[in-house]
Amino acid sequence: MSRRRRVFIVHSGGTIGMKPSGDGWIPEPGYLRELMSANPVFQAQGMPEYEIGELDPLLDSAMMAPDDWARIARAIGDRYDEFDGFVILHGTDTMAYTASALAFMLEGLDKTVLVTGSQIPLCKPRNDAQDNLVSSLLLAADHHIPEVGLYFGSRLFRGCRATKVNSSGFHAFDSPNLPPLATAGVQIQLNRELIRWPSPEQPPRLEVHEDMDPKVGVLWLFPGITGEIVRHFLQPPLKGVVLQAYGVGNGPVNDQEFVEALREADSRGVVIVDCTQCLIGSVAIADYATGTGMARAGAISGYDMTPEAALTKLLYLFGQGYATDRVKQLAQRDLRGELTEPSA
Ligand code: ASP
Repeated sequence: MSRRRRVFIVHSGGTIGMKPSGDGWIPEPGYLRELMSANPVFQAQGMPEYEIGELDPLLDSAMMAPDDWARIARAIGDRYDEFDGFVILHGTDTMAYTASALAFMLEGLDKTVLVTGSQIPLCKPRNDAQDNLVSSLLLAADHHIPEVGLYFGSRLFRGCRATKVNSSGFHAFDSPNLPPLATAGVQIQLNRELIRWPSPEQPPRLEVHEDMDPKVGVLWLFPGITGEIVRHFLQPPLKGVVLQAYGVGNGPVNDQEFVEALREADSRGVVIVDCTQCLIGSVAIADYATGTGMARAGAISGYDMTPEAALTKLLYLFGQGYATDRVKQLAQRDLRGELTEPSA
């Protein structure tokens, strides 16, 4: 008889394991473990064996920062050889940031790593927690998906393509520029041609990159944004910015002060990644004069990256200590499936 598969659960906090308190929902150490042991579904035949590693403190994900991503990445790295797959329990608020960051932090994965959570805690009779957790455990145990994924509402997305789109529905996440890697209906259906398989010539070896450089930011353009505001935003210690521009990457390049602010920052070595405010589609920086103007001012294309992926990619690239030119080069390359490079 084949051995029972084993999944390591990293519990970081979030609604899924929360308990009611006088101040509203709070994460409480040991509570999720108690709920899972008391629920026969998690012990049922066909379910994998699991061990829970709880982070201390457990957090509402609105409080998470890059050091918390590093704690999660370390927890996985430390137990990587002992388990068949990994499930990270996480709040929904910043789940897409964590999933994107982990995609960069965990290089050379050859096991399934999934982030999940829920809109309603597991302790409530009507919830989405049980299904998200059961399906994630089964996916992590029985399916080889060597990526960081985000499972929510019956769909498995590539982590660095996912974004939160609904603050109250059970389909809280979407991956607007890439179809799901798997869909859980009556059967779990993998979209095998979308999954990134390690190259057969180079057997994957996990490398955990914990360092993230926090000197980056996101700037959302809006009609009337002044060059002065932009110039102030781009001041040191800022090293890189995700510019959430219009449509295919356009901006108000008729405003000389705005253009000068970008140029000045670019000449100081600030990396400006031009992304789109649109949920679907890619930046095509040379399509309009208003985009070409952005490129002339020093912006590089972020193609179809989500803001979460673009931001965490900059945090990661600067965290690796790369010089400006190398960051610019890698920011425009597909490292973990986070962007679609234009075909030559
Ligand atoms: N505020 C919660 C969190 O992100 C929301 C959730 O889990 O859905 O931790």
